[in-house]
Amino acid sequence: MFVYADNAATTCVSQTALDAMMPYLTGQYGNPSSLYTFGQTAHEAVEDARKTVASCIGAQPREIYFTSGGSEADNQAILSAAKAGARKNRRHLISTAFEHHAVLHTLKKLEKEGFEVTLLPVHEDGVARLQDLEVAVREDTALVTVMFANNEIGTVQPIAEIGAFCRDRGIPFHTDAVQAAGHMPIDVNEMNIDMLSLSGHKFHSPKGTGVLYARRSIPVYNLIEGGGQERGKRAGTENVAGIVALAAALKESCDHMAANTAKILPMRDRLLEGLGKIPHSVINGNPEKRVPGTVNICFEGLEGDGLLILLDQNGICASSGSACNAGSIDPSHVLLALGLPYELAHGSLRLSIGEYNTMEEIDHILTVVPRVVETLRSKSPLWQAMESGQKPHLI
Ligand SMILES: *Cc1c(COP(=O)(O)O)cnc(C)c1O
Repeated sequence: MFVYADNAATTCVSQTALDAMMPYLTGQYGNPSSLYTFGQTAHEAVEDARKTVASCIGAQPREIYFTSGGSEADNQAILSAAKAGARKNRRHLISTAFEHHAVLHTLKKLEKEGFEVTLLPVHEDGVARLQDLEVAVREDTALVTVMFANNEIGTVQPIAEIGAFCRDRGIPFHTDAVQAAGHMPIDVNEMNIDMLSLSGHKFHSPKGTGVLYARRSIPVYNLIEGGGQERGKRAGTENVAGIVALAAALKESCDHMAANTAKILPMRDRLLEGLGKIPHSVINGNPEKRVPGTVNICFEGLEGDGLLILLDQNGICASSGSACNAGSIDPSHVLLALGLPYELAHGSLRLSIGEYNTMEEIDHILTVVPRVVETLRSKSPLWQAMESGQKPHLI
């Protein structure tokens, strides 16, 4: 049996997205910037996609910029706020300790350029607190950027509260909503979000397309110089087919959000119940404040990488944290931010399921994982030391 349980890393392209993009990969290959009708057909497709994306998040079409993905949108949002802040002598940036590296590494780069960064704690349950933001905020704060939902553990942050707080103080607020889009309702006005990042391949459109939403009042900084595409803020001939697919996939996910959630939750709950029975394990993240499909669990006395190899041999695609960290020997910065000890953070497993998964697949996971955990523990010197009482169990 083949089970794809890594939907937080990427997703399959939906039939709807594929059907929508196909004409622009075949007959309709015009350049949207060309003046003749053949080009204008492509231009209209891009503008229709912009309207669709805008309506899915409560924005205006002209506040939508198409990018190459979530990473580019994160970079552009943060640099836009940083450049605007610096012009007013504001060089303080606030984020959280468990953001995606597209955010954290951009902040690191800005630190080297003289900005100061405060990373809010995310506590044991993987949720940032407004109180910590209230303490961290300064006169010279130029940006608050807090992810909507975490990609490794699935916890959802108090975005509307943070948005209201930032609006009151006139501080621009960005959220990396890559893991939330299509899974949770998002309204940039109700939530007082000034900038937001999306990535198409996390909701069933192809890799290499994303969106930066930037409120009209935000001066957008141009990462890529060249032609005047995207109102001069993102040069380069548009990925017309990708943009059309992204809009179709986002609309499909938003239209079917309730039904998809109703399908995913019972699978997620069965997964949690089954995995929770494995001794000396801990399920990570607040049990209520979370996206439907992402489960993260740590097993004492084993290495996550060993677990992934054995799961792969049993046809299961899973992750030990973030796909971007594959091959790294350090435990996940997300799990360390929760305060988990190194030994425990090393034994992590992320299973992220979606509406394309089935109960049979969940049952397959639940037969394989306990067996594999036992195999790995039986070969682990750390586990044996714990079992013989030489070392204490951590959980
Ligand atoms: C996947 C992901 C990104 C990066 O998106 P790409 O389109 O792959 O560049 C950024 N943030 C989060 C939270 C993600 O899960």
